[in-house]
Amino acid sequence: MQSESYKLGRFFLCGLKHNSAFVQSIKKFAKEKRVMMAVFTVIGAVKKAKLACYDQVKHEYQQIKLDKPLEIASCFGNLSLKDGKPFVHLHAVLADETGKTYAGHLINATVFAAELHLQELLGNKLEREYDQTTGLALWEFGEQ
Ligand code: ZN
Repeated sequence: MQSESYKLGRFFLCGLKHNSAFVQSIKKFAKEKRVMMAVFTVIGAVKKAKLACYDQVKHEYQQIKLDKPLEIASCFGNLSLKDGKPFVHLHAVLADETGKTYAGHLINATVFAAELHLQELLGNKLEREYDQTTGLALWEFGEQ
């Protein structure tokens, strides 16, 4: 198991813009504040969303398209680097008007209203590298 420890940096609260693209908004905010690594949560609502489940045999994402208003019951994510650029990894549990939930890897969504709570992390650069076993871009902590 590989790991790395980080110091806590700034803590941000941010309201994401109505009608903005969820993932791009978080990326844009991080870029503006020069945050390179972070963990975050989001609550709020989206107008529509695209979730995905990773097919562990085919090594590809199976998409789940949700074209309706949904509550963000829970959303966790982190920010690290991939190819030297900020990369956002997000998972969400979204609920419809009946309370039925959909969950998975969040590809993107259109923001209705959303509150981002973001904890900046300070320390060695955290890069993602292609992992042959899983087919995913996983954290590479370097030599231990
Ligand atoms: Zn994921």
